[in-house]
Formats: sequence, structure tokens, C-alpha cells
Amino acid sequence: MEKYVYLFHEGNGNMRDLLGGKGANLAEMTRIGLPVPYGFTITTEACNAYYESNKSIPALVEMQVLEALTHLEEKMGKKLGDPENPLLVSVRSGSVFSMPGMMDTILNLGMNDETVVGMAKLTNNPRFAYDSYRRFIQMFSDVVLEIDSYYFEQLLEETREQKGYTSDPELTAEDWQEVIKGYKEIVRKHTRKDFPQDPKNQLFLAINAVFNSWNNQRAIVYRRLNKIPDHLGTAVNVQSMVFGNMGNDSGTGVAFTRNPSTGEPELYGEYLINAQGEDVVAGIRTPQAISTLKSEMPEVYQQFSETAKRLEQHYKEMQDIEFTVERGKLFILQTRSGKRTAQAAIRIAVDMVKEGIIDRKQALLRVDPDQLNQLLHRRIDEKAERKILAKGLPASPGAATGQVVFDADEAEQLGNDGKKVILVRPETTPDDIHGIVASQAIVTSRGGMTSHAAVVARGMGKACICGCEALKIDVKAKQLIVGETVVNYGDMITIDGSTGEIMLGEIPMIDPELSPEFQLLLSWADQERKIGVRANADNPEDARKAFEFGAGGVGLCRTEHMFMEQGRLPIVQKMIIAENDEERMEAIEQLLPMQQGDFEGIFEAMQGYPVTIRLLDPPLHEFLPDKEELLVEVTKLQILDPQSDELKQKEKLLRKVRQLDEFNPMLGLRGCRLGMVHPEIYEMQVKAIFYAAAKLAEKGMEVNPEIMIPLVGHINELKSMRELVIETAQRVEEETGRNFKYTIGTMIEIPRAALTADQIAEEADFFSFGTNDLTQTTFGYSRDDAEGKFLQSYIETKVLPQNPFAVLDQDGVGKLVETGVKLGRKTNPTLKTGICGEHGGEKSSIDFCYRTGLDYVSCSPYRVPLARLAAAQATIRQEQKKCEAYTPV
Ligand code: PEP
Ligand code: MG
Repeated sequence: MEKYVYLFHEGNGNMRDLLGGKGANLAEMTRIGLPVPYGFTITTEACNAYYESNKSIPALVEMQVLEALTHLEEKMGKKLGDPENPLLVSVRSGSVFSMPGMMDTILNLGMNDETVVGMAKLTNNPRFAYDSYRRFIQMFSDVVLEIDSYYFEQLLEETREQKGYTSDPELTAEDWQEVIKGYKEIVRKHTRKDFPQDPKNQLFLAINAVFNSWNNQRAIVYRRLNKIPDHLGTAVNVQSMVFGNMGNDSGTGVAFTRNPSTGEPELYGEYLINAQGEDVVAGIRTPQAISTLKSEMPEVYQQFSETAKRLEQHYKEMQDIEFTVERGKLFILQTRSGKRTAQAAIRIAVDMVKEGIIDRKQALLRVDPDQLNQLLHRRIDEKAERKILAKGLPASPGAATGQVVFDADEAEQLGNDGKKVILVRPETTPDDIHGIVASQAIVTSRGGMTSHAAVVARGMGKACICGCEALKIDVKAKQLIVGETVVNYGDMITIDGSTGEIMLGEIPMIDPELSPEFQLLLSWADQERKIGVRANADNPEDARKAFEFGAGGVGLCRTEHMFMEQGRLPIVQKMIIAENDEERMEAIEQLLPMQQGDFEGIFEAMQGYPVTIRLLDPPLHEFLPDKEELLVEVTKLQILDPQSDELKQKEKLLRKVRQLDEFNPMLGLRGCRLGMVHPEIYEMQVKAIFYAAAKLAEKGMEVNPEIMIPLVGHINELKSMRELVIETAQRVEEETGRNFKYTIGTMIEIPRAALTADQIAEEADFFSFGTNDLTQTTFGYSRDDAEGKFLQSYIETKVLPQNPFAVLDQDGVGKLVETGVKLGRKTNPTLKTGICGEHGGEKSSIDFCYRTGLDYVSCSPYRVPLARLAAAQATIRQEQKKCEAYTPV
């Protein structure tokens, strides 16, 4: 015979499919001997049987419910509907997955005109009894009889007014009796029947209502959104009531087994004396801290803290517990794993290892790498009040306060004067880099999570909000307007890059906490992980930060960023627009010592760890002024000052800009193609690298340069660039009388390179997968255009599961990475492989890189801790899978 009903002691925590999450949990707590109000669960299969029988409760289910009820009555020594000693129950839905779209709870079921009298006598508290009865009528009418609560609320309000009361506690037992009469009238009017007086009838009506709620509109929508299958059905929990509002020896509360904000091992929560659950939520009275329960009810407190400890030991996880005290007796109503901040998550995981509750591997899996971001940036004090002006995409975490500026040059000026500024632009381009460097944070009204501003800001660990469309930015008028509010140049704003919120004025901040527990957890991660973690760092400061956060090297140094630094751009421009070799070489000679200085700083910061330096990658026009702006300036000068030198200069610049103009710069003259056309630039860069290496060698320091050629698509490109590097290195070796240890490798960011990786690996010591470009070239999307125009809608309409520039597309781009690794190792078994696109700092992509056998991931310095943890998790998960797959013979 099919079993449709389980008493709490018959189930356990593993029976979620049959008993639903709540039912399984109640059974589990009962099984381990906790004081749970007794009851039974009607299974999800009964729900399906209900639908199969045309929405009627099958006889077998009904019989089993009645049997379980008898059992419950015997156990409680009370009977449903008994006027002398009535049993009251709660009825709750409970599906396998928690579903907020489903039926609300019904409390106090079993109350009627007779039992209410019994309850009044038993509790010696008629006011409590009649109040409970009217609550029941209202709840039952709303949830089961589908009569809008509004009618009941209105009647209650009228009564209060008539009597001159301002709040419910002022109503006496007699007042409640009057209200109950009115409530019953409402029910009669709406259903043409009397309020059901037979408690068994009440119970079956309630069970029907729970089953029906599985298919109400809210639940259907919720299931669709959360991909919960329709066939699962819901269970129904029937549980005896306990009352926290039976006097001053009763109460109700909620507590965490550890502090969810800091992780400290202490009971953390609050309770209300003489109250029911909804009173705590309603916030009518201020609850007391759980610590005062110790003096108010010492025995209950003692029992509760022991129970809390037990629950934690049992679930091996911090718990969030609901409890009720009925006349000095403690009952546990619910327990679940508690939500917590990043700081608390780390502290709890580490403490639990020390306490022997979990092992290190479990601890490492307990912290979500994404949460770590909260800890590595200054952030707004949670206690401070926020008045939000507008909200955009939370593109780079952290918080900042500063004066609004609308232009990169102004940002630089004010920043150099020691002012704190926030750069607000419709969007940013590589031309704005000096302004970004000088700003505390960046805000743009356009662009997505991987727009230029977002990527650069994350790289620099600066807060950034992108795509904040509510901002109307008038760069000319130096104003930004949001609705009625106008923010002028120089006004103070605060932004929170973790939430995307922009606020007026200055809001108090707190410093990042790199607690000893955090460091300890990361050291455990390092012991577990089998994939290296490096950082993308373009200057000595970033390299130092990366080293401090535990990076094992630099995986990508984008040398073009060195060209953008203050004072260098004019020299770079001179190099580009030079009309003869002499002019060009002059500019190049000027750039060389600057690059060399940067390399020295980075090598020094990395203390002998490998540093991958990528030779120049972006198209040269990125270093020149905007064509249209230049055209306007030239035209103006032609009219106002046609003989001026300035005009001649600008015309020359314009000619060059036009000459370099491309239909599709992403696919144009960039990467190694630049090195092929202008070998003198790469040569200068290579010289700078080896001069820097020689300088450090002089100081007795170790250096480990890895020279990387970008955007290779054909073996011959790499062959040619490799020769150039080797020849240049040899010249510096001869010049300095030193021998350098170095390697030469390539980025794999063009599908053809991945597909011909066996050929390419013959000329490469390492591959670094540039998954930013590889994603662009594999999908055929230009990132900025895609993010600005259609990617968002693709994600919303589920054409794409997520943004492939943020989360590696394992099916497509990932297949090219796998192919590249496999083919490359075929011809070069010692080939080193890594990833340096944005994905190197994203947890699911890191997991993929580990499974694909890459040697390291490289990400922005501020993501290094996240990557160390994610890399450890990838290893542990893989081990667990292997254990599961292993079946002993
Ligand atoms: C890449 O393409 O993944 C990469 C790291 O290079 P960039 O983002 O500088 O093009
Ligand atoms: Mg690239």
C-alpha cells in the first residue's frame, strides 16, 4: 500500500523529494531528539494523486491523514475539536525547493465556537483565546476561502475607532468576541455558508487549499523563472501549535548560532516575550537581544544554546533557528543554514575547522569566491544612511567619494592637486586613461560590465558604475541631471560599485579587512590548488599589490598602458606621425628609458617570479586624437588663423589619423601585425626589457621575463617575431656582457591560432589564451558594440545564457582553448599554458581552466584572492567527482 503520510519520527533529512524541504527538516530535527512540536507530513506524491483524482483527496490519503491525526492526538494528549482540551495545528505547504509563490501558513486550525471557550478556560486567558480565534478566521478565510483580508481589516479598524482605541492590544476579550461575530458575517456574505465549525472539515479544506496553491498563478510563474519542474508537487505539513503568547513565561524569537555579520562564535538574535511569530516580523514592539534571555529565562536559555550547538554540529553549518517558548517550555520551529557576510563566512569556516566540525576542504568550499570582493575594497559603512540618486551596473566593487568631473584632463589636473574626483562620462576610451588613473572612481551612462571603463577600473581596483542610463550627462555644460536633480562640476557624490548606487554628498566609509582568518583560509587554498594564479599588472604599483595578494607572477603586462602614462603620449604620437626614420627613432629612443624604468619596477616587485610582457597590441590610432574633433579644430584654424604653425601641425596629425583610419580596427593593423610592419617599436620594447633585466642582475636580483607576441594567427608571424626578439636579446647580451634567461611565447586569441596550435607550439615556449579577443573573434562580436547594442537583450531573452565576455563560453570558446592546449602539447610537451583574458578572475571559468589542464590563470590584482580560492575549489570538486565515480570491485 502506498504510504502518503509520514509522522515526523518516520522521516529524515534525506527525504526532501517526498516530504519537501520543510517536512524533511522537521523530521530530521525530530529524529535527533530536538523539541519540535509534533506533527505529520502529507507527501508530494499525495499532491500528485490529488491532481490525478481530478482535484479531490483520494480515499487512501484521507484515511492515512486521519490515522496520523489520531496518532498526533494521542501523543499530545489533546484532541482536535475537543471543547475541554483542544488540539490546534498549523498547516503549511512545503515543496522540494523553497517556493515563495505558494500558500501562506494557516495557524490555530481547530478553533471554533466551542474550542475557543475551552482554550479560554485552559489558559485562563480569554483575551488570548478570542484573539487567536479571530486571527484564525481571518487567515483561513483569506487562504482557504479566498475572501480578501481587506474586509476583515476594515471591520477591525471600524471597531477600534468606535471604541476609541489606537492599537490592537487595547481590545478586550469582549471586544474580540464582537469582532468575531462581524467576521463570521463577512464569511456568510461572501460564501453563503457559515464559517466551517468542524475541525476535521477545516483540516481537509486546508489540505485542499495547499494542493491547489501548487498551481496558482504566482507558483507557476515562480517555477518557470526558477526552472522548477511542474510535476514535483508540494507536501503539506500539519503540526501541533505552540503558543508564544500565553503570558510572560512565553515568547518567540529567531537566532543565528554565530554572528552573521562578523562570524564571532556567539548566539546572535532576538526575541519577544508574550508574542507570536508574526509580532516579531510586524515590528510593533522592539525585540530584545537573545543575551537578555539568559537572565530572564536562564533554563530556557541554557537549553536553547545547547540545542543551537547541537544543530550546528549536526548540520555542520551555521544555523538560523526559529523558536517559541510556551509556558517555559522550549520548541524549535525551524532551522536552516544562515545567510552571512563575506567576513563572517570566512571566520565561520576557519573557526569550524579549528573546532573540528569540518575539515579544511569543506571550509574552502563554504566561502563563495564572489563574496570576497566585499573585503578587498573600501566600502560604505552599512550603518550610514544612503539617499540614492540613481542606480547603474555594479561594474567594479568598492566605494568612493569625490567631486564630479566630466573630462579626463580635468580629472588629472584636480587629481594632481590632491583633490578626490569621480570621473563621469557617457563612456570612456583609452584616451581617458590618465583621467581614470587620477580619479577615485568612474561612472558612465553607457556601456556594460565589460566596457572599457569597467575593465580598466577593475584592473586598477577602482570602483566603477557603468550603463547608468538615468544620468543625463551634459559634458559641455558640465552637468549631470537625474530627474529634477542637477549635479554640477565639483559637487560631491559617493558611489558604491558593489551595488551600482550613486548618492549625493559624502558618506562614511570603512577600510577593507584582510583578517588573519582570511589569510589563513587562502593559505589552505594554496595547499589544495593545482593551478597557478598570476596577475595582470601593467605597472610596478599593480605588481606590488598583486604580490601582496599572493600572485605567483605576472601573467600579462599590457605595455601599451605604459605609453598612455602622463607625459608619454606626446612622444608616442611623435613616433607615430614621424615622416622619416630619423624622427621616428628619436621618439623611440626617448620612450626606451621610460619603458625600461617600468619593467625594472615590475621585476623588482615580483622578486624573481615570472613576468609575461606582451609587446604592443592596440592599433596606433588609439594613441592619436579623435578624427572628428581634430577635423573641427583644423577647420576652425583654417578660418581664424590660416598661416599658423598650429594649423600645419594639426593638419599633419589629421593626415596621419586619416591614414591610420580603419573600417574595423579590431581586425586591422594591431597585435603582431604592428610588429611586422614596425619592427622598430617591438625592438625598442625588447631592448627595454633586457636593459631592465641587466640592471636588476647588477643588483643581484633574479628576473624571469617571458616575452609574449599578441594576436598571432599564422606560424610565420610568430617565427618572424621570435627571430626579432632573439636577435635583439643577443645584441643586449653582447652590449652588457650578460646572459639572460627568458622565454618567448604567444597569445592565442584568434581561432586560427588555436586550430593550428601544433604548428605554433613549435615556435612557442608558452601559450596565453587571450579570451577577451578569442571571445570576440569566435563569436564574431566586437565587444563594445555587442555590449552597447544587443548583448543585454540576448541575455534577457535567453539567446545567450550569460555575457560571454564575463563568463567563458565553454562550449565554443572553451573548445578552442581545449584544442589549443591539446594540439600545442602534441608538438611541444613542455609548453606552458595560461589564460589572461577577463575570465581568469571568474570562478566558473577558473574551474574550466583547471579541468582543461592549464598551468595558470591570470587576473587583475584585486581578483587574485578570489582566483586562489576558486582554484582550490576546482581541485576539491574534481577530487570529489572522482571519488563518486570510483566504485570498488
Ligand atoms: C585578451 O584578448 O584576452 C587579452 C588579454 O588582451 P586584451 O584584452 O588586451 O586585448
Ligand atoms: Mg587581446
